[in-house]
Amino acid sequence: MQATRCGQAVAAPYNSPHMTNNSQDALLIDGVTKSYGKLQALKGVSFAIKPGEFFGLLGPNGAGKSTLISIIAGLAHMDSGRVAVMGHDTVRDFRTARRKLGVVPQALVFDPFFKVVEMLRIQAGYYGCGREVWPWIDEMLERLELDDKRNTSMRALSGGMKRRVLIAQALVHKPPVVILDEPTAGVDVELRRTLWAFMRDLHAKGTTVVLTTHYLEEAQEMCERIAILDHGEIQALEPTTQLLARHPFRFLRIKLAEGSALPSELQALVASEKAGTVELKLETAKHPIGSVFDALRRAGIAIEDVHTREPDLEDIFVELTQ
Ligand code: ADP
Repeated sequence: MQATRCGQAVAAPYNSPHMTNNSQDALLIDGVTKSYGKLQALKGVSFAIKPGEFFGLLGPNGAGKSTLISIIAGLAHMDSGRVAVMGHDTVRDFRTARRKLGVVPQALVFDPFFKVVEMLRIQAGYYGCGREVWPWIDEMLERLELDDKRNTSMRALSGGMKRRVLIAQALVHKPPVVILDEPTAGVDVELRRTLWAFMRDLHAKGTTVVLTTHYLEEAQEMCERIAILDHGEIQALEPTTQLLARHPFRFLRIKLAEGSALPSELQALVASEKAGTVELKLETAKHPIGSVFDALRRAGIAIEDVHTREPDLEDIFVELTQ
């Protein structure tokens, strides 16, 4: 039998966390249900994520994302269903499943008295990792621009710096699957850039990344596939490009000449209106752009400027969850 260290097979090179064949799912969620009293937070959620995917789990507030992440991380019990991380059942084989997983939580919770590097080494110890991960800890400190804070105690760090430590802490044992729960909520642009560059590199080396975010443009840019969860159910699960292409509508933004108003026959198409500029949502099959111009001409409305916009993930998200 092959010996293991720090949750990895010893023979595994440290920059290649996968010790699995491609037929195995990195994360398997199978019929997961969870209720809080009468409230059904998860109503039988099922999906699978392949090793090496960059996957987005999106949904409005209250959709059930945090509940699902807590269940995956073994912090909450499901009522029924099954979750496996790299083939390891999170209930029957909890310790191994947990070692395969790194979760960057939303909340900043730390012991304030430890220094940064001590914190990370202690965390590594929880996963059975010793000195062999110290070079990796040093690499993360550098990548997350925490190097000059390595001997600073946690209580002396700013919120942004604490968040960097939280990210390093989740990755200290080199998990093959990483869940980022709203990692960029309220963080500055620089940390966002640092974080995404780091995640892109880890992903390029084979790490599976699951992202929940409110910043839909981030999900659109980073994720290969997206699941949209709403009211405890998966509403859509598709490759990002397919999700974007599946919705055949576009937007037409028109700046009306001063004193002009949109004719009543176009009012039903208005998606937004701001300072004399209206945005119309046009279903490709039903509303050719020419028909809008015809209506404007018939009504004698003068326009100053016009441009079209393809739907982005935000538009599709609103459409699916409203
Ligand atoms: P999200 O992370 O998508 O915002 P949550 O998983 O936090 O959603 O919540 C899903 C639903 O479950 C919400 O209606 C929320 O109010 C409810 N909920 C979450 N945690 C608890 C709890 N500990 N007790 C009772 N209800 C909860």
